[in-house]
Amino acid sequence: MISIANFPGAVKYWHQGKFHEWSESILHPMVHALHYGTSTFEGIRAYATDRGPAVFRLSDHIDRFLVSASVLRMSPPFGKDEIMDAVRSVVRENGLRCGYIRPLMFYAYGNLGLLPKTSPAELVIGAWEWGDYLGEMADKGVSVLIVPRRRIHHTQMDMRAKLGGIYVQSAMSALEAKTRGFDEAVFLNLEGRVAEGPGENIFIVKDGVLRTNMITESILEGITRKTVLEIAADLGHPTKIAPITGEDLCGADEAFFTGTAVEITPITRVTDGSDPNAPKPERVIGKGKPGPVTCGIETEFRKAVSGKAPRYEKWLTRID
Ligand code: PMP
Repeated sequence: MISIANFPGAVKYWHQGKFHEWSESILHPMVHALHYGTSTFEGIRAYATDRGPAVFRLSDHIDRFLVSASVLRMSPPFGKDEIMDAVRSVVRENGLRCGYIRPLMFYAYGNLGLLPKTSPAELVIGAWEWGDYLGEMADKGVSVLIVPRRRIHHTQMDMRAKLGGIYVQSAMSALEAKTRGFDEAVFLNLEGRVAEGPGENIFIVKDGVLRTNMITESILEGITRKTVLEIAADLGHPTKIAPITGEDLCGADEAFFTGTAVEITPITRVTDGSDPNAPKPERVIGKGKPGPVTCGIETEFRKAVSGKAPRYEKWLTRID
């Protein structure tokens, strides 16, 4: 029996235009993507608003999804409008007021040579309720470990794409951080500067200036990152897109993660474990609690996603 303990609210998933009961397994163990990570996915959130659930920045997510598919040389089985409609129908069919939506496009069953010659691309979409990604206490601030292994470099992989295979590195580093007692990992890039978390972008605040890095620092340029940059500018905070060093992070007045899953999560403690032979002591960021800039942006973000900020209504796709 399939447990839904970690997928609360999940009733049905969508595969190639058809709904299936959550407990039904339809994939063969020999699908190409299961063996080689030849898949791409999106993480999207729907939020409760006074007018029912609304999907946040759906169009941007599907644009990125299709870019990822093209990087994998996939022929998507559905077009953008069809995928957007399917996402909305999944939220509706599961009766969700809010939740996390996971579209996955993958090379399916056909052959198992590395070249997916006869493996068609298929699309599956699931949705469920997913609260705080880094735990209930995450809004008070999380501790991070700068892991020794460097982030895959932007010259090695096209960082515009969210490819399944890349997430092996994310899962391993998240496991390492967790096993060693930290909430989350942070990657340095090959240049030795801060890149990103396993599934998050990073912002720092120093002397009132908000700073985040860019794709040439080997990051996925997240949609939440883009959202926060716009909200911060609207709030009148100076913003800067520039590299961030480990020292910048440790010496920041405030720091936070952004991502669809983590939303805006303050980082309050950093341990630099980048040199396994010379681990450095934990550094407290600012006052060790969420700072005023982070909190101000978070408040505005909450208004935006819940349909309480008319200027950001443009980011919401209503379900009904
Ligand atoms: N970096 C990585 C590696 C991620 O997986 C994510 C999550 N998609 C992000 C950054 C943040 O991206 P977004 O804000 O679009 O969710």
